[in-house]
Amino acid sequence: MTLNELVDFSGLASEAILKEEFDTEAERDLAAQQMQKRIAEMRSSVERGLTSDKASITGMVGWNAKGLWEADDVLKAPLLKRVQAYAMAVNEENARMGRIVAAPTAGSAGTLPGALLGVADHLELSDEHLLNPMFLAAGIGKIIGQSMFIAGATGGCQAEIGSSAAMAAAAVCELLGGTAHMSVHAATMALMNTIGLVCDPVGGYVEVPCVSRNAFFSVHAVSSAQLALAGLESVIPPDEVVGAMASVGRMLPAELRETGEGGIAATPTGRRIALKMLGENTDM
Ligand code: SF4
Repeated sequence: MTLNELVDFSGLASEAILKEEFDTEAERDLAAQQMQKRIAEMRSSVERGLTSDKASITGMVGWNAKGLWEADDVLKAPLLKRVQAYAMAVNEENARMGRIVAAPTAGSAGTLPGALLGVADHLELSDEHLLNPMFLAAGIGKIIGQSMFIAGATGGCQAEIGSSAAMAAAAVCELLGGTAHMSVHAATMALMNTIGLVCDPVGGYVEVPCVSRNAFFSVHAVSSAQLALAGLESVIPPDEVVGAMASVGRMLPAELRETGEGGIAATPTGRRIALKMLGENTDM
């Protein structure tokens, strides 16, 4: 299935994904049980991340989610704060080598729970409501992964965070009553607006800018869902947007694909941190 086919489905997008993936009720039931476990794991990583301030192995991150979660909500925007804190909680757990659910990768694992669990908790929706949106998120990730890259090492951060934001946008859209048409447009707008994002982790560690990047792009996913639910659409068809991202990914030099040699990683401070992690004297 392609995104262009999914966008025209008359029911919910998750139904189309479930029909495509599973032939029998038994297969579907088993998958639902497994997905419930993943939702529980996501929740657990959010809870651990919100209450821990243990530093990551490099010492660059580890306290951001807890710090935000416990800070005053100066903007009076509880949804925004919750989504950002949940996303960073999961990625800081990843940076501490804790257990997370890759969605689609470990580096982008915070975006989907940040957006989906964040919105569900804000609206006091039970985890039962998350099951089909999670299947949709998985289906969107699979479709993108089959036609382009989903890892920063191959397509830049646009492939990794872009895919996670697309998955999250579609899931949030369906959670809030969006049709297949709306959910795929939510995913498409999320993808379109991450094109060009490079992968530039300091020292090659999935910490900076990755932790805050998950916070930003979980909000981006919620924004995409909101636009789609209001009837906004991508002018460029979904599969063409995926193709555009793949094309940009192929143009990216190796320095901007998870080598830690470009962008933020190549700043003087980024390089000093990388050398320090290698145990070299940097006068830091
Ligand atoms: S910068 Fe690279 S390592 Fe970090 S989240 Fe993006 S793709 Fe992953």
